[in-house]
Amino acid sequence: MEKLKERIQQLKKKRPGYGEILDFYQKIREAQDDAKASLSIHPIKLKQEVKKLLAKEGFSLIQQEDFPVDVEASVNLFQSICQIGKEANPHMAEQVRKIEEAIENRRLDLRKLFKKGAQEKKVEHVADEFGLNKKVFSFLIQSSTKPPIEAAVEQLRSEFDSETWLKGYCPICGSLPSLSLFKEEVGKRYLLCSYCGYQWRIDRLFCPFCRNTGQESLHYLYGEGEKAYRIDLCDKCHQYIKTIDYRNLAESDPVIEDLATLHLDILADQKGYKRPVPNPWTP
Ligand SMILES: [Zn+2]
Ligand SMILES: [Zn+2]
Repeated sequence: MEKLKERIQQLKKKRPGYGEILDFYQKIREAQDDAKASLSIHPIKLKQEVKKLLAKEGFSLIQQEDFPVDVEASVNLFQSICQIGKEANPHMAEQVRKIEEAIENRRLDLRKLFKKGAQEKKVEHVADEFGLNKKVFSFLIQSSTKPPIEAAVEQLRSEFDSETWLKGYCPICGSLPSLSLFKEEVGKRYLLCSYCGYQWRIDRLFCPFCRNTGQESLHYLYGEGEKAYRIDLCDKCHQYIKTIDYRNLAESDPVIEDLATLHLDILADQKGYKRPVPNPWTP
């Protein structure tokens, strides 16, 4: 946490315009840390035969709804994060007010949503039903389920070799990546799961969304004077993924680096590329 705070201070100095967003994220991380301390989840049991078969066929180890849940912890965390959101900015405050209204009218049942594992499709469906901003609502829900999910990933980590999967979706839970990362001097490329946070190795020339490997249709662009960040564009599916280059940057939480480089998302958006897994501030 100290390291995270330090990095956020650095980023705020460099790019004051992102101060509000970074402060918001830091508060969420603190709330998640608090929630972690009193977490209670069941261990995941994987059947050996199933595991082998699934790995061979290219299926993920589990699915989003198979993650253990701690409904009470997530409901409490959701409430804390909503409080933080109210103070963050008017747009977030407005969304939180709408959510609270839906809960008060007993139409939106958070416990039920968390109990079923809060998988992406279900969350989007609920956002539609109550007229909520999908990106914001998904972010709030996902932030609230993060501690139990991260604890589960720690349980499963030893079940898998992150270097050999090489697919565009997460080997643990099957979700799409939110970011790509370059690591080590030789520039090994990894993808970061948008749902469970697991990182796995991937080829350097590869679109995770359409599996394109064509040199002529995969491009990237840098922001001005920013060697540590780039946008990887695919001309086949017209989507992009942001890459954090840790060869030019001290190891840090990729999510804060993402939040502090929204100008690159704006650039990609202007060029007509879409981001399949946005954060709440992505255009
Ligand atoms: Zn995952
Ligand atoms: Zn593509």
